[in-house]
Amino acid sequence: MGTSAKVGRIGFTTTIPLEILFAARKIPIDLNNVFITHPEKKALVEEAELEGFPRNICGWIKGIYAVTTRLDLDEVIAVTQGDCSNTQALMETLQLKGVKIFPFSYPYDRDEELLHLQIKKMMDHFGVTEAATGRVKMRLDKTRERLTLIDRLTWQAGTVSGFENHYFLVNASDMKGDFEAFEKEVEDFLKEVKGRDRFDTEIALGYVGVPPIYDDLYSFIEALGARVVFNETQRQFSMPYRTTTLLEQYLRYTYPYDIFSRLRDIRGEVQRRRIVGIIHYVQSFCFRQIEDLILRYEIDLPILTIEGDKPTSLDARTKVRIESFIEMVKGKQEGHDSP
Ligand code: SF4
Repeated sequence: MGTSAKVGRIGFTTTIPLEILFAARKIPIDLNNVFITHPEKKALVEEAELEGFPRNICGWIKGIYAVTTRLDLDEVIAVTQGDCSNTQALMETLQLKGVKIFPFSYPYDRDEELLHLQIKKMMDHFGVTEAATGRVKMRLDKTRERLTLIDRLTWQAGTVSGFENHYFLVNASDMKGDFEAFEKEVEDFLKEVKGRDRFDTEIALGYVGVPPIYDDLYSFIEALGARVVFNETQRQFSMPYRTTTLLEQYLRYTYPYDIFSRLRDIRGEVQRRRIVGIIHYVQSFCFRQIEDLILRYEIDLPILTIEGDKPTSLDARTKVRIESFIEMVKGKQEGHDSP
């Protein structure tokens, strides 16, 4: 064989059917993950602001914009419906920089036919068949099962931390661009966890909302004797359901559709995992903040809403609010447990 051809790298703004990209022998790159793990993530946001992004636009959008301009990508898949109200303008600014855009959308009403058409359009665009994609799905399903085991070990066996749970599930969105290497990382972690003792945690919390922009949230919670045993959105990225087709898989995925299916999922997991309080993370200037009122109306548990803006560590005020919340939940639990 001669020199191997360059493998195309495809960026995206939220979870899309990555099975299609792997079937097309492309490298999927979740731009959120690249931004949030970037050593200069704070500078990326400032870079976007210097280019003219308004101050009152979400930090993720600015970070994704700046990181995309630094990456050598063949194309970016923009999820124009089912993710973020800012995506269209973000894509237009990237187009201005010469980035090629392919739009994908999740129908709000979860219409099967419309989603089928979107998946078909994406397969045609990347030149792959349903059979080839199906074979990749079977392969990735095995990794998804192992991720479900990591999730179960978090709340059932109590041997996985809230951050570790977040880390593995959030990375399911692009399997770090190389599913075989990611699979190995997952297996190595499962081996390591086998010999561990159960975390000595008193309080089981749920984390709801988009992944946090803070880098020390989970460790801070754990230092206070509580632990996140349910990461709602991250778990959805891992697609923890047994499905036979790609269409079924992306129809069961709750994140891009209405909040009511998310609420059903949250209620079920809260009960199953014996969760006693919820941390609802909202991002500054994000339209999803409005959903906080629906969550409070529909979920009968103590809820703490925290808001993040720039990629930094937790600020003092948020720390105090988390501390008081955990104290309050602890008090409630002790009252409940005492004879
Ligand atoms: S946090 Fe909200 S505004 Fe920001 S990218 Fe995500 S959905 Fe969009």
